[in-house]
Amino acid sequence: MSKQGVLSIAGVDPSGGAGLLADTKVFHQMGATGFGACTAITYQNEDELSGINWISWEQIRAQLEPLFTLYSINVVKIGIVENLEVLHRLLKYLRTKTEVEFVVWDPVMVASSGYRFHTSLSAEVLKDCMGMVDVVTPNQFEMEEMMALLGMSRVEELARYTNVIAKGGHLNGQVSEDTLYMVGGRSLTLTRERLKTTGKRGTGCSFSSAMAAAKHLGNSLEDSFEMAKTYVYELLKNSEEKLGNHHDIKLNVK
Ligand code: PLP
Repeated sequence: MSKQGVLSIAGVDPSGGAGLLADTKVFHQMGATGFGACTAITYQNEDELSGINWISWEQIRAQLEPLFTLYSINVVKIGIVENLEVLHRLLKYLRTKTEVEFVVWDPVMVASSGYRFHTSLSAEVLKDCMGMVDVVTPNQFEMEEMMALLGMSRVEELARYTNVIAKGGHLNGQVSEDTLYMVGGRSLTLTRERLKTTGKRGTGCSFSSAMAAAKHLGNSLEDSFEMAKTYVYELLKNSEEKLGNHHDIKLNVK
């Protein structure tokens, strides 16, 4: 049988704080085989992001073909992509792969450093894209942007299209609260103490990758959410540095 794994389709941050390098650290740490395809090359270290070169859809697809030819990939995480049109083509392609059971979309628009990746959003394409993923993991800013575009006033309304995890990490307050709004109306809120951090890189990337790895390993949506929340909590807690220290993180994963 071909090797089974979880795939990240994301940008390269050469410092390894975010993007593909961080994603594969998470996969490894959680005991999953990780594959990766590159959507962008960024120029950055942990302090600043100075630029980006996008990889075309054709080049992304050319990276995916050999992976899907040889390996069995049941879960995919998607990070930065140039715009919604590229995402749409990517999702249509993934939906032709019958072994792909679960797609996590981290709708990265702005890096923790403040760098803006893209602004080109169209309501119709966004709805279509949401309909083709199994969970979307926006931070507060990304959620507001999506809701404004779709003319929504309540987060729950987003879950008409797909499961949504609204991350509260960038908000203030004593606790850090994330809520999973599920298609069908149920919701689950997870709360942890808010840690004082020094601008840790790649928390969004690590969260969505941990979700993907947990799903790949056979966990439910709710359990995967809980594991991802714990993973990021441990990442924030285990070092004062901006670059995360993944190798100490131990989760009780199936
Ligand atoms: N993906 C790449 C390649 C990045 O370089 C960044 C940030 O610099 C992100 C995603 C977003 O990172 P975060 O996890 O902080 O949202």
